[in-house]
Amino acid sequence: MREAAKFMLAQFEEIDGVIVIAGDLYIKNQAALDIALAKLREIGYQVDDSRDPESCSRQDGTSIETMEKNGYSMWYAHLKDIRRGKCKSCGQLISTAGIRCHGHKCEKCGAVTYREIVNGSRVRFSFEKKAVSDTEEQSDWRDITMVVHHWDTKNGYIYFYPRLLDGYYCKGQEKLCKYLDDHRDSWQEIRSIKDKRVRFIRVKYSHQQRYGFKGVEAPVIRVSDNSKHFWNHDIVEVWEGKEYDEFFGNFPVPQSLSIYEAWHWAPLSSSPTLHRKLFSSIHQVSDQGYYYQDGRRAFDERMFAEMGKFVRHFTSLDADLWDIKSRRFRLDGPGGIEDVANFCHPRSEVMNRPNVGNILIGLTKKGPLTEREMAAVVDAARDDGQRDILMGIFGKKK
Ligand SMILES: [Zn+2]
Repeated sequence: MREAAKFMLAQFEEIDGVIVIAGDLYIKNQAALDIALAKLREIGYQVDDSRDPESCSRQDGTSIETMEKNGYSMWYAHLKDIRRGKCKSCGQLISTAGIRCHGHKCEKCGAVTYREIVNGSRVRFSFEKKAVSDTEEQSDWRDITMVVHHWDTKNGYIYFYPRLLDGYYCKGQEKLCKYLDDHRDSWQEIRSIKDKRVRFIRVKYSHQQRYGFKGVEAPVIRVSDNSKHFWNHDIVEVWEGKEYDEFFGNFPVPQSLSIYEAWHWAPLSSSPTLHRKLFSSIHQVSDQGYYYQDGRRAFDERMFAEMGKFVRHFTSLDADLWDIKSRRFRLDGPGGIEDVANFCHPRSEVMNRPNVGNILIGLTKKGPLTEREMAAVVDAARDDGQRDILMGIFGKKK
């Protein structure tokens, strides 16, 4: 998290009864909650109430009592409407609605913000398969590439130059011609009005068909590749009048945070599964099978320090001891989980579910596998569900 975002969260740490852990707020009493929620709203967050039946945090069939007792996030604060488009023609901020629809125009200057297919694009496509018989339909993988003369979006036609280029599956003029012939009713030959010698191949293709809008006829072709788009906009995030790049990660405040009402469930006492809560408080998975098995680093000291806050304020464990011992916890996935779990309970129940990823790493790794990696490969291969996924990846049918 960036310094500026930390600075914003530091304001909350000053409220008595509020603990900030990994960007979320853990709150010890109702009075502190009231202050924190008011502050969030003042900053500009929209705060959703998970008790509201309409809220997306409200899970079907879960009572409010259960949500409270099991430590669900009871409030969710997020910034609304920070995404804006930025027109590259006029440089002004515009709405993002429809900004990536072919031919959409900037509401400030009228320039087109995006064209999905531009004149001169090479478009690879297949005709929609016709069901001659079950087997024949499935076996027709053919496709073709053509160069776009123009796209008449008003009437929903692409005009291609008549030159036939290889598809991915279908190659060579003879086969391409045959493919076109087999779908003779899906296209028309059009002669240019200006010069009768110039021919185009016209295919029905509209935006509405492509996105399967209701009441629109089914598409005639399926585009699998398109060499060029026209982008005339950026997406930016705006906060207090300043623009931030959507992917740069320098936005100055957290865009969302969860708020927990800890008084319903804290302090948690030592249990074989308590470590799972600690890992989820820092948004990490507590299943050893999920991580690399080769000793690679998955955690760092700061993560253990954040978990330490949870230990100190919301469990009955010895937090001073945590501060000393956690400095020596292993930093790889399986090792770190085991160390935290053992701290939480002498007979901890650590999850170690086989993971198809581990088989793949095992199969593709250069050099010998570590003992742990080997064990993970064997475990995963024994598990029916994981084996099915793997067979899927390698394209074998059961
Ligand atoms: Zn503009």
